Amino acid sequence: MSFELIEKHGEHEEVLFCHNKDVGLKAIIAIHNTALGPALGGTRMWNYKSETEALVDVLRLSKGMSYKAAAAGLNLGGGKAVIIGDNKTQKTEALFRAFGQYVNSLNGRYITAEDVGTSVKDMEYIYNETPWVTGIPPDLGGSGDPSPYTAHGVFQGMKACANEKFGSDALKGLRVAIQGLGNVGYHLCEFLYKEGAQLIVSDIDPIKIKKAVDTFGAKAVSPEEISSVECDIFAPCALGAGVNDQTLNKFKCKIIAGGANNVLAEDRHGMALKELGILYAPDYVINAGGLMNVFVELEGYSKERAHSHTLKIYQNLKQVFDIAKKENIPNHKAADHLAESRMATIGRLKQKHTGVAQRVFGSLKVENR
Ligand code: NAD
Repeated sequence: MSFELIEKHGEHEEVLFCHNKDVGLKAIIAIHNTALGPALGGTRMWNYKSETEALVDVLRLSKGMSYKAAAAGLNLGGGKAVIIGDNKTQKTEALFRAFGQYVNSLNGRYITAEDVGTSVKDMEYIYNETPWVTGIPPDLGGSGDPSPYTAHGVFQGMKACANEKFGSDALKGLRVAIQGLGNVGYHLCEFLYKEGAQLIVSDIDPIKIKKAVDTFGAKAVSPEEISSVECDIFAPCALGAGVNDQTLNKFKCKIIAGGANNVLAEDRHGMALKELGILYAPDYVINAGGLMNVFVELEGYSKERAHSHTLKIYQNLKQVFDIAKKENIPNHKAADHLAESRMATIGRLKQKHTGVAQRVFGSLKVENR
């Protein structure tokens, strides 16, 4: 059954089942592709209903990371890990340290980080067992909260979209509707406010709405209304699947560009946006700022280098738009082509596996300890 699923979900290089009865660890690490470098991707802790569900999730997420890193121009491959368990009641130091030993056994082929259900503290536990972990605390040489960098990348991506659609990078005076005022959405508001954009905001949490209204003079609308407000840019920064059968015909925006992952409920919705004349910034291209930030951690962290990495998102999106026009395909397909061609061409030049990467990343990281 597992082999069938692995085969169905793409050509993963390695899938490791991790089990430690004493501490209650049941985890799966999936390495999708290391053609460009070591596979980096966070560890998700979730109460999966079944092992099959956990396996499908880790296979899907690790493949997504390969594409994200490749399109971002990073020398990283794609990987991900899932720990099966309740992240509110079943977390222990021993569990994460046992998991860290499995990460260590891969000798740098897989590098982990935070994801849904895991925190900086959990990464610190893992760091006791292996150097192959990012998102550790700043006082240990880590990069801290990635969301300001994700938001900055989204902001740069919006400029590329505005240039493409309106012929100018300027966001001043544009109406931007932001769905979700969490870590990414709030920082995005800050950048847009400074630029002089008009903000329309929504969240399910009234406290977050009040803060955005008071701080940025934003107009608040209900979560039901946000996808149908008249605006220039709709920025999904909450959960995935914001573009779906229900919202598709309600949009009154010209651009969709935000921080959320998996914005398209289904692949066909990307084609539908193209037909509606709405410019879509593919999610994994525009929200790669957080990944860029942890990548810099591997080299020895610097805020300045992380910032300059996120500026590249402008050009990455422009490249996607050019491919889409040339091949007459929707933007999300163009992003896949960009990622796949980089994995194929650069990957071919490099030795597969982590020969080079380990020297670059490994020595720095180990010395940091
Ligand atoms: P978060 O949990 O801090 O924020 C999400 C916000 O959305 C919360 O304030 C929540 O109340 C709000 N929300 C939930 N449902 C909503 C709805 N129906 N309408 C309006 N608001 C709603 O999460 P985050 O870290 O800001 O991440 C936001 C999105 O960006 C996620 O999809 C995440 O996967 C993606 N992302 C985040 C990062 C990062 O650096 N944090 C990096 C890449 C991608």
